[in-house]
Amino acid sequence: MFNEINTPIRTIMTPGPVEAHPNVLRVMSTPILGQFDPAFLAIMDEVKEMIKIPFGTKNEQAFAIDGTSRSGLEAALIGLIEPGDKVLIPAYGRFAYLLGEICERAKAQVTYLEKAWDSVFEQDAIIAEIKRVNPKIVALVHGETANGQMQPLEKIGKFCQANDVFFVVDTVATYGGAPVKVDEWGIDIAIAGTQKCVSVPSGLSLITYNERVEKVLTARYQKELGLSKDFRNERHISSNYLDLSQLQRYWNKERINHHTESTSMIYALHEGLRMMIQEGIENGYERHSQNDRAIQAGIEAMGLFIFGDRTTKMPTVTPILIPEGVDGDAVRNTLLHDFGVEIASSFGPLQGKVWRIGNMGFSSRKENVLHVLAAFEAALLFHGAAIHRGEAVLAALNEYNK
Ligand SMILES: *Cc1c(COP(=O)(O)O)cnc(C)c1O
Repeated sequence: MFNEINTPIRTIMTPGPVEAHPNVLRVMSTPILGQFDPAFLAIMDEVKEMIKIPFGTKNEQAFAIDGTSRSGLEAALIGLIEPGDKVLIPAYGRFAYLLGEICERAKAQVTYLEKAWDSVFEQDAIIAEIKRVNPKIVALVHGETANGQMQPLEKIGKFCQANDVFFVVDTVATYGGAPVKVDEWGIDIAIAGTQKCVSVPSGLSLITYNERVEKVLTARYQKELGLSKDFRNERHISSNYLDLSQLQRYWNKERINHHTESTSMIYALHEGLRMMIQEGIENGYERHSQNDRAIQAGIEAMGLFIFGDRTTKMPTVTPILIPEGVDGDAVRNTLLHDFGVEIASSFGPLQGKVWRIGNMGFSSRKENVLHVLAAFEAALLFHGAAIHRGEAVLAALNEYNK
C-alpha cells in the first residue's frame, strides 16, 4: 500500500522554485480542455499578450515552451546555431556555462570571456571581445542566480543590433522581479521561466524574439514527416520538440499539430501573469526591492557579509558569506527541519562559501522575510556562529517603516 502524499508546509526563500501563488494552485485544478478547443485557444492568445509585458516588448512572437527554463534557452540557441557558427559567452557565473554547454552540443564554435564570479562585466569589455571574436551570437545571463549579480545590457544590445550580431539573454531570474527591457536594450531573444518571479510551478519556459530571429526560423522550417512528405529542409533545426519554427506555428494562426499542450500549466501561467499585471509590473519591482533592502539590512545587522559587488546586486537573490568555522549545510538543515524554511547553497567555486536567500514572486513577502531572518538568526546561534543577537528582525522592521 502506498499512502497519499502529505507534504510539509514550507517557507521557500530559495532562488527558485518559489511558493506558487494560491490562485495559481487553484486554477491548476480547472478541467482539462483539448489543445485546439477554441476556449483554450483564447486562453493561449491572452497568455501570448501577457508574456510580453514583463519582457518590455512589442515583438509579435512571445509564447511558452513545455519544459523548464532551460528548454527555452536550448530552443533559442539551437534555433539560431548551425554547425560551426561562432558564439561568444561572457561568463560571470554558473548559468553562462549552461548556455555554453548547449552551444557546444549544437556544434557551435564557442569562445568564453571569463572573470571571477563576484561582479559583472564592464559593457565595453564585452563589446571589445565581440569586435575581436566576430561571433554570430552573443549569449549572456541577465541575473546570475549563482552569485546574485545582474549584468547591465543596453550598450551591448545596441552594439549587437548595429553589427548584425544576435543577442540572446537569459532573464530567468529577473523576469518580473527587476526591469527587463527587451526592445529598449536590443535583445533578439529573451528567455524566462515560471518557477521564479511568476509564482507558478516549474515546467514552462517563456520566450520572445524579434523579426530578425523569425527570418532565420522561417528559413529553417521543416514540416514533420507525418504531416507532409514534401516539406524537407536541409537547414532544419536539430531538435523536433524544441523547434521554434514549429512551436511558433503552433502558437500562431496556423495552429499546426505539434505536441499536446499542457493545458493545466497554461492555466497556471495565465493566472501567474494576470496577478503580476494586476499588481502592476512596476509595483512588483518595488515590492521585490523593498523586501531585498529588508533582507540585506537584517543580514548586515547580524554582522554577516553579503558576497559580491553591491552596486550590481540582483534584487531577487542575496548571497551571504558563510562565516569561518560555521557548517553551512548544518545551518540550512536546521532551517528546513526545525523552522520549515528553505534557503539555498551555491555552485562551483561558491559551493560551501555562500548561502543564498531568494526573494522572488509570491515568496517575496514581508512575513517571509521576517520569518526567514528570525529563523536564520536562531539557527546561526544554535550552530555557534558569533553574530549580533536580536538585531536582524528589528533592522528589517525599521527598513519597512522608513
Ligand atoms: C533557474 C535558472 C535557470 C534554469 O532554470 P530551470 O527552470 O531549472 O531550467 C537558468 N538560468 C538562470 C539564470 C536561472 O536562475
